[in-house]
Amino acid sequence: MKCPYCGLENPDTALKCNCGYVFREYRENVERVSSTATRISEPTESSRFKTLVTLGKTLSILGWVWVVIAIIVGFVIADKDQIIIPILSGVVAAIPGFFIVAQGQLILCFVSIERGIQDIKKEVINLSKETK
Ligand SMILES: [Zn+2]
Repeated sequence: MKCPYCGLENPDTALKCNCGYVFREYRENVERVSSTATRISEPTESSRFKTLVTLGKTLSILGWVWVVIAIIVGFVIADKDQIIIPILSGVVAAIPGFFIVAQGQLILCFVSIERGIQDIKKEVINLSKETK
């Protein structure tokens, strides 16, 4: 293996380089770094729901935009002669917006359930490994 300090090639069994660099530490460092790397790469596994999460969030936002616009339009078209009917129709027109929000939240809900199940599965697998 190559000394990371001076660059000298050492036999793989060497614990120390001629320059005084201790390889054991280096090896432990590499192990620590690689275990950190796997810990970091783990969340990307659950990011396979990225599309669904994006869709869910987008639907929620679109739904609220729909609701707000429908109610605003209701207020805008209301005048002195007709107040209640335009506002009421604005509120009625806002109802599909609530369904869109609900749809988006339903998707996000399913994703979080699925993720929760996967976390539980991992825990169970870890536990069964430990008891063996
Ligand atoms: Zn060295």
